[in-house]
Amino acid sequence: MIEFKDFSFKYKAGEEPALVIKNLSIQKGDFVGIIGNSGAGKSTFTYAVNGVIPHHYDGDFYGAVRVKGCDTVDSSLTQLALSVGSVFQDIDGQMVSSVVEDEILFGLENFGVPKEEIQQRITDILIMVGIEDLRYRNINTLSGGQKQKVAIAAVVALMPDILVLDEPTAELDPQSSQQIYNMLKMLNQKLNITIIVVEQKIMLLSEFSKRIIILDKGKIYLDGTPKEVLSDT
Ligand code: ADP
Ligand code: ADP
Repeated sequence: MIEFKDFSFKYKAGEEPALVIKNLSIQKGDFVGIIGNSGAGKSTFTYAVNGVIPHHYDGDFYGAVRVKGCDTVDSSLTQLALSVGSVFQDIDGQMVSSVVEDEILFGLENFGVPKEEIQQRITDILIMVGIEDLRYRNINTLSGGQKQKVAIAAVVALMPDILVLDEPTAELDPQSSQQIYNMLKMLNQKLNITIIVVEQKIMLLSEFSKRIIILDKGKIYLDGTPKEVLSDT
């Protein structure tokens, strides 16, 4: 589903690479947690998977990242967005509408989903993630956890194969964080969406992820099941 081959990326020439990955593959249906200190390359990893690198940065890019067999260099960001849904750290900046259903509608319209299908798709996704009661709410009045669910729902409505999230629980209390991970688990199991999530809360990954990759100074330090990785740290 995702393959890194001799990948290396520097934001600026002359600096140390922000991320170097010789070989890595992630299979369909996996649930991968990415951990590491600040500056370890976690966000850069997510950008390599969703094509923000190299499309939005003109640093030094080497090697290849393939998503569903297609090189990200050769794929347009729109093509990639159909395979890889991204929930960025700054969800307030990511969301474009003031009402929940409009936020989901926006993506569906943009990706050319037929008008007669759109209302049904909105209903289906809201029910699936358990927020149909929020449909007509103003996003600015929602709690952090509810907003995060809306951001995820809007992306999943586009039916991506892969969902990439950068610290979705950074601003959430333990209970809301748990709810977000229950939602990710359900999406992983029901829709077989491959989940890649940057997360600092190691306990959440040990409970929910199938695989943990620890990044350190731009390199993979450990990669294995939560049990394997956590017994080594
Ligand atoms: P995080 O560690 O949560 O990924 P950072 O604080 O590293 O967040 O980065 C926040 C933003 O600043 C990102 O958009 C990142 O690309 C940018 N950034 C990080 N380091 C640098 C740097 N050395 N020069 C310019 N921009 C940077
Ligand atoms: P993390 O998400 O683990 O905090 P990042 O992927 O944001 O790490 O950053 C990895 C390295 O790349 C850091 O050294 C950071 O300073 C650098 N970096 C990140 N974004 C930029 C940017 N926009 N310009 C220059 N350097 C950056």
